[in-house]
Amino acid sequence: MNIAFISSEVTPFARTGGLGDVAGALPRALAARGHTVSVITPLYRSTTIDDAVPVSPGPVVSVPMKGIETKAGTAAVEMAEKCTAYFIAHAHYFERSGDLYGAAGKDFPDNCERFTFFSKAALELLRRLDMPVDVVHCNDWQSALAVIYLDLWYRQSTPLGAARSVFTIHNLAYQGLFPRDAFEVTGLPAGLFAAERGVEFYGGVNLLKGGILFADTVTTVSPTYAKEITTGEAGFGLDGVLRSRGNELTGILNGIDASEWDPASDGAIPARYSAQRIGGKRKCKRKLQEECGLPVDGTVPLAGMIGRFASQKGFDLVKPLVERTAELPVQFVILGKGEKEYERLFADLASALPERFSVHSRFDNDLAHRIEAGADLFLMPSRYEPCGLNQMYSLRYGTVPVVRRTGGLADTVVDYDPRLAAREESNGFVFDDFSVDALEEAFRRALDLYPNRRKWLALARNGMTRDWSWDRSAAAYEKLYRRLVSNAAGEPMGT
Ligand code: ADP
Repeated sequence: MNIAFISSEVTPFARTGGLGDVAGALPRALAARGHTVSVITPLYRSTTIDDAVPVSPGPVVSVPMKGIETKAGTAAVEMAEKCTAYFIAHAHYFERSGDLYGAAGKDFPDNCERFTFFSKAALELLRRLDMPVDVVHCNDWQSALAVIYLDLWYRQSTPLGAARSVFTIHNLAYQGLFPRDAFEVTGLPAGLFAAERGVEFYGGVNLLKGGILFADTVTTVSPTYAKEITTGEAGFGLDGVLRSRGNELTGILNGIDASEWDPASDGAIPARYSAQRIGGKRKCKRKLQEECGLPVDGTVPLAGMIGRFASQKGFDLVKPLVERTAELPVQFVILGKGEKEYERLFADLASALPERFSVHSRFDNDLAHRIEAGADLFLMPSRYEPCGLNQMYSLRYGTVPVVRRTGGLADTVVDYDPRLAAREESNGFVFDDFSVDALEEAFRRALDLYPNRRKWLALARNGMTRDWSWDRSAAAYEKLYRRLVSNAAGEPMGT
């Protein structure tokens, strides 16, 4: 199949979070399965392209913006065999200092305009490239408009006329909400400023809603999250819209980059190990304790936690957990960056409990690897978690996760049950309520098992030996694309 993947961020070129990782990995995995994949993304000032990689100029495309034909330069870079990244360049929209979507903690005020332009230019580029496209796969609010434009304006044209659209939600909390006057900027027909089958949302514009309503099918990044977001509790106001898609809303679990996150070949950790030869993990733990200024003791369980300091991740539960388990021998290492209140809270805790608690308030990928390798347990008490990557890294590194049963965590971590200890699927500890009590109960169950090395290692090995690769996810997307394409065959165009 010919697949066009439209995303506002793509690793390794530009990334703010999980979307970038998916857009970097999934297209390659699809190409490795024999498909031809074009990845379309903006060329930001901060985009990094390896000097060694040849960049070829692409066509100049022209799209109307507020009634004025506006041009974008394009350039192409090969990401892998049969997988090409196309960059959309525009000095005013994308060559800005700051982050991809804002600066100094504030969103750019013209984000609706910037990503209207991106969405229009992406489709126009596909038309100009003149390859038949089977599937246009858009992601999050930044490319949601491309789903609608495809339906409105490209049905009569080749090569996009028969293309089916897939829209993936990576985090429902980010919806692309704009005031009423942003609607004019999108260029959509007036009739689409509507609550029913339109982008109106409480008097403003909601781009994510448009993607959900207009795509041929909608996916999100785990099966459990796909169910949760159809409820009022986790639906962020869009649960009704999501429910209206019925069976056309499904969840496909993300994969992990199995070459970067592999304890058998990881260059960032002090010793290599695997499920068969796990000895090196002891050295990783010793070195991590040394690095963090914690007492070096292989018998004391070490719990790690990594993530954005945001309330989503459940960091509020950590301090009470540390206090309530004061009588137990256990150490904590936290790595994160974000809301200042957590940085202060943890800095205070680290100075009060230097032998038990160590915090690192920064973004540090190498330290993240060393924590995954050196810790015995990994905490993820998230309020919600569309997919989550760290629990999969932990499983691969034999670091037993303690997680809340939500989203992708529920789909990857299987609770340890002593009555079913021989079950090969159990690989961690799971709790339900978002509360200190529930986390503490699961954490204590983990600490109780820890001294039983035989059982503990069996649990860790269960996680290490499962397939968390992107190929598994790509196979699921491929099946979805095939269903769409074969359903469409025989239908008159434009249905
Ligand atoms: P989210 O996308 O919601 O932030 P995920 O678990 O899906 O959460 O992915 C987060 C990614 O960012 C993981 O790869 C994690 O290791 C990494 N990460 C988050 N914070 C840090 C940090 N402070 N230092 C290093 N890596 C981090």
